[in-house]
Amino acid sequence: MKNGKIIKVSGPLVMAEGMEEANIQDICRVGELGLIGEIIEMRRDVASIQVYEETSGIGPGEPVVTTGEALSVELGPGIISQMFDGIQRPLDTFREVTQSNYLVRGTNIPALNRTNKWDFKATKNVGDYVQAGDIVGTVKETKVIEHRIMVPFGVSGKLTSIQDGSFTLDETVYVIETENGSKELTLLQKWPVRQGRPFKKKMNPHTPMATGQRVIDTFFPITKGGAAAVPGPFGAGKTVVQHQIAKYSDVDIVVYVGCGERGNEMTDVLNEFPELVDPSTGESIMERTILIANTSNMPVAAREASIYTGITIAEYFRDMGYSVAIMADSTSRWAEALREMSGRLEEMPGDEGYPAYLGSRVAEYYERAGRVLALGSEDREGSITAIGAVSPPGGDTSEPVTQNTLRVVKVFWALDATLAQKRHFPSMNWLSSYSLYSTEVGEYMNDFLQTNWSEMVQHAMNLLQEESELEEIVRLVGVESLSEKDRMTMSIAESIREDYLQQNAFDDVDTYTSRNKQLAMLDLILSLETEAREAMRLGAYYQEIIDGTVELRDRIARSKYIPESNLAEIENIKNDMKKRMHEIVAEGGMTKNA
Ligand code: ADP
Repeated sequence: MKNGKIIKVSGPLVMAEGMEEANIQDICRVGELGLIGEIIEMRRDVASIQVYEETSGIGPGEPVVTTGEALSVELGPGIISQMFDGIQRPLDTFREVTQSNYLVRGTNIPALNRTNKWDFKATKNVGDYVQAGDIVGTVKETKVIEHRIMVPFGVSGKLTSIQDGSFTLDETVYVIETENGSKELTLLQKWPVRQGRPFKKKMNPHTPMATGQRVIDTFFPITKGGAAAVPGPFGAGKTVVQHQIAKYSDVDIVVYVGCGERGNEMTDVLNEFPELVDPSTGESIMERTILIANTSNMPVAAREASIYTGITIAEYFRDMGYSVAIMADSTSRWAEALREMSGRLEEMPGDEGYPAYLGSRVAEYYERAGRVLALGSEDREGSITAIGAVSPPGGDTSEPVTQNTLRVVKVFWALDATLAQKRHFPSMNWLSSYSLYSTEVGEYMNDFLQTNWSEMVQHAMNLLQEESELEEIVRLVGVESLSEKDRMTMSIAESIREDYLQQNAFDDVDTYTSRNKQLAMLDLILSLETEAREAMRLGAYYQEIIDGTVELRDRIARSKYIPESNLAEIENIKNDMKKRMHEIVAEGGMTKNA
């Protein structure tokens, strides 16, 4: 440790001299209050420190002490269900300790509780050889998650002591005889947030992450280990989409990073998440969720750190062999924090004032997503799926944050303010959204559903695209100019949009659709098309079909409300529809003959 002295304070940026022994990325205690800061630039003996707490009132001459440690997170039992700020200060404990709703500066409390005892069950024995990443035992942390205790990075050797028991995070749980002597280990480990946790191998993500949201799972799927961007103009339904994913996606752990959205929005998340119930377990989703909250009234630098804190926690659970989803809302606010710090450092600004390294920072973040083979002797597989919300000012997706994000993510869910105004929810625009995982996921789903799923999806998408071209013609010369065939295309496309893509998050049944139900529903609409076209081939007119199937099409529209337990009902509608089409052809024949 070495003392320096403050020479200048500029908002969250503090310059200190006499810091020649410090290094970039060292954590410092700044000023008399001991505020937490991180060195982001060194010039000779002058350190530029970004301070994670409000700097008002501190000034030149006050001391700066480096700790020699990098910005790190604590990883161990007690982390799930927690709400942290951007540098992993536990918000609830903070409130208790400081008796204040605001973060009291310089308060030094550990991220994870030190007095709780955790029941540890050893899965290895004395005498076993273990290496970094090996699981030595487990702690049942919440009703739904088993916390797997892994040998920390850089440690390997023979276990000389390990036993079941009840331990706090500070107590020795197992001992490993390493080459450099005996090492006492606890349930707790630390990891520097700016450095990805190591793994054996990165693998291609090919298993889809099921979300129960039809527009995502069917048309714009994401894989476990994939990365997606979701631009969310205000009111477009960004929050609802994220809630739905947090609730229904088939992952083990969810990390939600709320990054500098307006204060009250984050409060919404903090209040709402504990209320949400995971339908597969019946428990609160907090049993598998970790929240990281930085509202815009918290210091800008903590916002910059929050996504690294989040992804490091995600990596830790990935390493246990879990599938993790991390959501960051919004990466635009994060990028603005980056821009503000860069401006204060007087760096050369790039596009729209963002630093020139914006693109590489965005890429570094998303590259920490993926499907990997974890360290350790067991060949465990884990994944991180990263979903980043972007809030481009004025909805302009040509701005730098969106563009740099699109360069690295493979899925783009374009929430559309116009659709939201028309109450088409989720307001994901089917023409501008895309998923580059469609081919792999299509193959997986063909296999899973034992059918030609990917062809059905492609066909449905073609209809939607044709519809948009036909709409253009209708706008110019009116609907009468369309052929019978084109009018049928318009009608089926309308059904895909309204009966399939629209999904009400607030309806008990419609809020979640299984893969099998998605197949049954899509098959129903496409069968209507096949039958209708066949009827037309046999001489029925478009209008006859439309008039003759009013009731049936109404049943198709309501098929989304058929419970998962009664999917046979969708098959009934299909059979009735076929019968009805035959009748229409026969009746038509009769009118023509008469
Ligand atoms: P944002 O976070 O983008 O500002 P919200 O997620 O809060 O927008 O959505 C705004 C409103 O849109 C919600 O309060 C809700 O009424 C409606 N909405 C959004 N998505 C859905 C959905 N899937 N089903 C039903 N209503 C929705």
